[in-house]
Amino acid sequence: MKEHKLIVILLIILFNTSYAGEQPVYSSFFTDEACRVDFYLIGGYDTQSIEIVQVQKIDLWGGSKTIMIDPLNYGNYRVLVYDLRSGKLIYQRGFSTLFEEWQETKRAKDTLKAYEETILFPFPKFAINVLIQSRKRDNSFETLIEYNINPQDDKITSSQNELLYKYVLKNGEPHKKVDIVFLPDGYTEELKSKYLKDVRIHVKKLLRNSPYRKNKKDFNVIAIETWSKNTGTDFPQFLHFEDTRFDCSFNTFGSERYLMTESYWKVMDAACVVPFDQVVILVNSNEYGGGGIYNHYATFTSDHKMSDYVLSHEFGHSFAGLADEYVENIPYEEKIFLDVEPWQPNITTLQNFKEKWANMVEITTPIPTSSDIFGKEILGAYEGAGYLAKGVYRPLFNCSMRAAIRNRFCPVCTQAIREMILLNTY
Ligand SMILES: [Zn+2]
Repeated sequence: MKEHKLIVILLIILFNTSYAGEQPVYSSFFTDEACRVDFYLIGGYDTQSIEIVQVQKIDLWGGSKTIMIDPLNYGNYRVLVYDLRSGKLIYQRGFSTLFEEWQETKRAKDTLKAYEETILFPFPKFAINVLIQSRKRDNSFETLIEYNINPQDDKITSSQNELLYKYVLKNGEPHKKVDIVFLPDGYTEELKSKYLKDVRIHVKKLLRNSPYRKNKKDFNVIAIETWSKNTGTDFPQFLHFEDTRFDCSFNTFGSERYLMTESYWKVMDAACVVPFDQVVILVNSNEYGGGGIYNHYATFTSDHKMSDYVLSHEFGHSFAGLADEYVENIPYEEKIFLDVEPWQPNITTLQNFKEKWANMVEITTPIPTSSDIFGKEILGAYEGAGYLAKGVYRPLFNCSMRAAIRNRFCPVCTQAIREMILLNTY
């Protein structure tokens, strides 16, 4: 009850006091369609640039028509859309990318690489100025590109993709729901019924656990039906490759269990068949693994005994912008600097703890918090998170973002997920 009250108060502050007056009126600036901008993020360790490839008009916008300016400011990148006539900011969202992880790998020190990226926003009625920005070390943003779009421009193409799909869960119209689109990878057409069954089972398991359990009615789930030539997925470390629809592969950046795809435009081509907020790629495999990047996509496998846990963990990254709370070597350096507060809601460097979960902690709990003295169930700030053993802190001793434990999001992750549901359904 106490926690619920807190969320209500927080949301009143977040949306009504500081944002309701500033949110642009959707119908004044946008049509019911969506605008898709494909671009390359190109670079290496300390360089990056953007090359716009195409602008498309998509049938239906699936996101919120109320919260146009994202108040959370998560992600290592963000897109800002300005109405060209008035100069008014009319849309803003944050996101992260696979490219930023590539930048921190050893290979990026002497190689340049281009990654497919896409941003989606409501289709404008009038000319707009689009800014794509990247987060700097001090948490401020720098503009990588400014790009004008005139909705009458005949170079804007219409999406030609038509695929079959099934609503696995339908609770209402897309603007008021979190719409998760599932894409199958490594399923041949003969495996259609297995795929639909796998989606149903995993959605049921995801939504029966906290914090989703209380918010089941806030979700729509759509299963896109599109098929791979081969079953399974790639294991490059064993020189095992399969021809699959979305080119998912284990061993991303040399990390055995990290299952990702670089074919992001194929993913977007299929997802854009329906209005959506979040993309989940279901890989037909019984190996343990997956991945998730904020407002990009999440992956998991169908048939491992911990697959349901992996989906909830990876969706925590891709949907709610949660950080990993564990300490482990990863093949790329995470951009967490100990002298600034990280943007992820569930970790802190204690540089600005007030902005994080300080108001949820009992006044008698010391910060940092030692598990030797206070046990494991008191909300505090326990050292070791975001892959670093020192200087980064997590809210509780354990959480589904730290260890492979089902149905165990800490109160801070729980609140972050609930906030995100509200942001999508407000
Ligand atoms: Zn947590």
